[in-house]
Amino acid sequence: MPITQKGLEQIGVQKGQNFNAVNVGALEHLDAYKAVHPKLAREVRGKLFLKDLLDLTGMQLSMNKLPAGISVPFYHQHSENEELYIFIKGKGQMQIDGQNIDVEEGSLVRIATKGTRCWRNNSTEDLYYIVIQAKENSLRQDTFEDGVPVDQEVKW
Ligand code: ZN
Repeated sequence: MPITQKGLEQIGVQKGQNFNAVNVGALEHLDAYKAVHPKLAREVRGKLFLKDLLDLTGMQLSMNKLPAGISVPFYHQHSENEELYIFIKGKGQMQIDGQNIDVEEGSLVRIATKGTRCWRNNSTEDLYYIVIQAKENSLRQDTFEDGVPVDQEVKW
């Protein structure tokens, strides 16, 4: 079931033959976006999924704002995708398989499919993070192996 995303009309998409570029605005205004969770039928404020706008084909990505004092009200696992949580501002905690981990700006947490996860903002300021989902064990080669130099002088 697809995710319904609200608030996208305010985002301009610049597309080229080989790129998509968007500006989602300032982090503090992320709560203008709402995602409707297809299984829970509930609206999640401050969650912006970007796969469709960016035409991503190998990952899903969301940008998120969680207000002070708020916990995600459920645990979840994944069936195929590992998740990487990249915390970019604020402080909070993740709980994975019953273990609590403090997170803050600069924290990155990778969770395997079967990890039972939840997270909260137990601070007094907003928490901002990016979540990337990609199919577990799908990576064949990484940056420097996959990059191919292009024989073209750099001009701006
Ligand atoms: Zn997830």
